[in-house]
This record gives sequence, structure tokens and C-alpha cells, in this order.
Amino acid sequence: MNLSPYQSELDWIDSQQQTMLEATIELARINSGSWNAQGVNRVGEHLLKYCETLRVKQRLIDLPPVEEIDKNGEIRQRNVGRAIRLQKHPGADRQIMLCGHLDTVFPQSDSFQSVDWLDDYTLNGPGVCDMKSGLLIMIHALLALEQSPLAGRLGWTVILNPDEEIGSPSSAALIADTAAHAQAGLVFEPALPDGSFAGQRKGSGNFSAVARGRAAHAGRDIERGRNAIRALCDFVAALDELNGQREGVTFNPAHVSGGGALNQVPDLAIARFNIRTEHHDDEHWVQQQLRRLAGEINERDGLSLKIHGGFTRPPKLLTPANQALFGLLAECGSSLDLQVRYSKTGGCCDGNNIAAAGTPNIDTLGGEGGHIHSSEEFLVVSSLSRRCKLTALLLFSLAKGHLDYQLWPHLER
Ligand SMILES: [Zn+2]
Repeated sequence: MNLSPYQSELDWIDSQQQTMLEATIELARINSGSWNAQGVNRVGEHLLKYCETLRVKQRLIDLPPVEEIDKNGEIRQRNVGRAIRLQKHPGADRQIMLCGHLDTVFPQSDSFQSVDWLDDYTLNGPGVCDMKSGLLIMIHALLALEQSPLAGRLGWTVILNPDEEIGSPSSAALIADTAAHAQAGLVFEPALPDGSFAGQRKGSGNFSAVARGRAAHAGRDIERGRNAIRALCDFVAALDELNGQREGVTFNPAHVSGGGALNQVPDLAIARFNIRTEHHDDEHWVQQQLRRLAGEINERDGLSLKIHGGFTRPPKLLTPANQALFGLLAECGSSLDLQVRYSKTGGCCDGNNIAAAGTPNIDTLGGEGGHIHSSEEFLVVSSLSRRCKLTALLLFSLAKGHLDYQLWPHLER
């Protein structure tokens, strides 16, 4: 790829390194744990300041509440922040979507809230890598496109969602709808720790099992009681035994609660667990197993076990269309002396949802760094302009029509 037609845009991105860095720090200092709707909305408002020169149609979208199982085993509704949609050139022949999340995994109660320098090149802070830097990379790559002669040849829609870190339960429909109208998707999750891109990704589901029994006095009347904790433990042990029974499918019992006074037979216990899948038909097998395990508890006298939740993200496979998109990215990378490699990961993200809508996408275009979802999260700050230039070149190539969209399975439907 000859860079000379794009040199002024690439130089402009280099000149924005400090702006992107300061903005990343500014956004990371705002707590935006997924359940902190106000904080998430504030991150969105601050980010929109950088979008002013895009002169883009903006829409703030209220999302439906998320259904959750509370500590009493009852269903309750919880609100998340707003989603933001930006849309430009909706009449262009070529349409893509770009996606980024405004939330982090760190709630307001977490002790990890400040941004610090680890050395001259490395920033530590909540969301600096996952993915407040990615949001700035995305916006500045779009700014570069819109000030280039190619502006108008690529239509784009940005979705900024507030709930990615809890599985995008509220924004899933918005993402699916946007993806269905796009020929390709770009998502700004951080690079994998070795700098590579995510190729194939596992699918994921979050579940709760609510076991109910019968309370009774532990001394006078223990025979009358039906112990919900024992029932739940049996279920969790059997669930864990499913690990290794089907290749690529894993079960993680993650949280248990229940019981109360020591002289009372407990009548309620709740387990929360996550399941990862590798192939589309794994979900059916998993559902069968869950029904069987719940059935074994439900046959017991005076005990019941109900499973709530489900799969939120199907597995993302490496399709020919996705490989073609990686091929284009590799061309862009080589002209910047960057090697583009991709590998499998058990993690998942909105790239799974976009793929489920039939739209090929690259979902790790954000910053380089690591230890995400921990207080050691870090960002390699030089990656801001480096990765922004890579995305900008990809946008230029897509605008010039360097991809054969006939490969796209969803266009053949
Ligand atoms: Zn993320």
C-alpha cells in the first residue's frame, strides 16, 4: 500500500497523540462501572466533545433495563446507561459499523479508581486499555477519514454501548440491528497481550440457579427441613463435572450465596455461573445438560431448582469473509511496519454479536497493553497514534472498495 496519498492524514494523527492521551486519562478518571449509569453517561458526554468536528448525526438511546436475579432469588430490573449512535453518509454504497463500550468492570466501590504512570511510556488506570483508549482511537481515525478526500465514500455508524462488560444484555438488539445494515464491523477492544488480534472467539452465557427448600428449626425439627444449600451444592458439583465432557465447552461456578441463621435449615441458595462454548451447536448440548441437572434436584421431595439466564454471545468463527478483512488489515499494517497476527481466544465481546448478525468484523483494534480487568491494567501510550493510523488506513481501504463484498455471506442471503 502506497502511503503518500494519505501522508497528511497520518501526520495529523501523529499530531493528535497528546490529545488522545489526555482524553484517555480524562475518561479513565470517570468511574463507569457497568451499573454506574450516571458515570457511563458522563463518559459518553465527554467523548462527544471530541466528535464535534465530525459534524455527525448523534442520537442518545435509552435502553431496556436488564433482568437480574437478586439475593432473594427474585427477578428484578436494573437500569444501565444510555447508548449513543453516530451516523454519517447513510446514502453511501459502502456501509460499516464501529463499536465501542463506555463501561468498565470496576464499580464505584472498587479501590482502583485513579490513573498513574508506571514509567514514561506506560499508563495504569481503570479502563485505560479496556477501552477508553480504544474510543479515542476510533474517533480520531474517523476524524482522519472525514478530513481526507475519501470522505463520503464510506458510510459509517458508531454504536457506543453502556453494558458490554456485563454481556451487552441491553444493547444486543441495537448492535444486531446496526450490524445487519453494515458490510463490515470494527470494534475497539484492546489488542491481545502479545499484540495480536482476536481471530476466533468463544461464545458465552451467564446463568443463575435458584435452589429452594423448606426452612425448619435445626434442633427441634431438622427432619421437616429441606436443605437448599445441599441441593445447590449437588447441582454445582455436577455442573463442574461437565468440564471436559465436550471439547471447548467450559463451566465456571463463580458465585454462591444463601442460608442464614445457623440454627435454621436454609430454604434458599443461589449459584451464579458462566459457560463458554466453541461451536454453535454447543448451546443445545449445554441446555440439555442444564435441564437434566435441574431435573435431578426437582425430583427430590420439597426441593426445587430453577435456572435463569442464557447465552448472550454466540461463538465467533473465523469465516472466509473475516479472513479477507484480516488480509486487508495486514496490508495496511505492513505499510506501517506493523505485523498483523491473529489468534484464538476464550474471551468474547461485541464482535461475537456482530458476527452473529452475519457481519465480518475485527474486534481488537484498540490500544496495546494488558492485565485488563485487574488493578494492574496498563496501556502502552505510544499505541494510541500507532493503532489509530492502522485503523485510518483500514478505513481508507474500505472507502476505496478494496474488499470484495461478494464474499460476505450475509449479502448472499
Ligand atoms: Zn472491553
